[in-house]
Amino acid sequence: MVARAVRATDLVDLDGAVADCFACPRLVAWREEVARTRRAAFRDQTYWGRPVPGFGVADARIGILGLAPAAHGGNRTGRIFTGDRSGDVLFAALHRAGLANQPTSVAADDGLALRDTRIFAAVRCAPPDNRPTPAERDTCAPWLRREVALIRPTLRVVVALGAFAWAAWWPTLREVYGVRPPSPRPAFGHGAHWSGTAAPALLGCYHVSQQNTFTGRLTPGMLDDVFARAKQLAGVD
Ligand code: SF4
Repeated sequence: MVARAVRATDLVDLDGAVADCFACPRLVAWREEVARTRRAAFRDQTYWGRPVPGFGVADARIGILGLAPAAHGGNRTGRIFTGDRSGDVLFAALHRAGLANQPTSVAADDGLALRDTRIFAAVRCAPPDNRPTPAERDTCAPWLRREVALIRPTLRVVVALGAFAWAAWWPTLREVYGVRPPSPRPAFGHGAHWSGTAAPALLGCYHVSQQNTFTGRLTPGMLDDVFARAKQLAGVD
């Protein structure tokens, strides 16, 4: 699995390879069970039921790092943050920021396109209760590292959605950029910011989960502030 990730020569190659990964038995069983049983509202649909690749442009200056696909979102549609409430919030914000051509993301063939941005997850398969184990996170890390390595020439800032993504960035920083992570690690928080000299800046943002958006812990204005900051750090107009 690691070898296949490392061998990927471009994002198309990487996306194809990751979609064929079976390295985590628990997650493989879960993604396939969800695809088989389906949610009542989607019973007439064929679920993707496989790892979900990153999405966005190859020359991204802004990376958005999420936790993992949602069982009935990315695991259903095959595109990250597509077909669920979290994606509704995220893509509406990206559209307001001028980083997406439309504010909605409902299906892999809905015409959505990003500008200067690529979205990827620390773990590529939907986990039960949205909670991958540390071992699953580590097993999946080569896919993230290779994706970051492939967009490294342009990548200037990474927005970490939630504490899990924030924590997943530090090993990537070390492996891809050869930069020793700060010690102690900067604490995650909404608006937290870390900058090094030889690596992309890291911005913290509360995850766009329903738990955060429905309760008002994360508001559209807070997301707008983060993406305005990300654009500024990345030099995106
Ligand atoms: S979580 Fe990552 S490493 Fe595990 S099976 Fe899915 S794609 Fe493979």
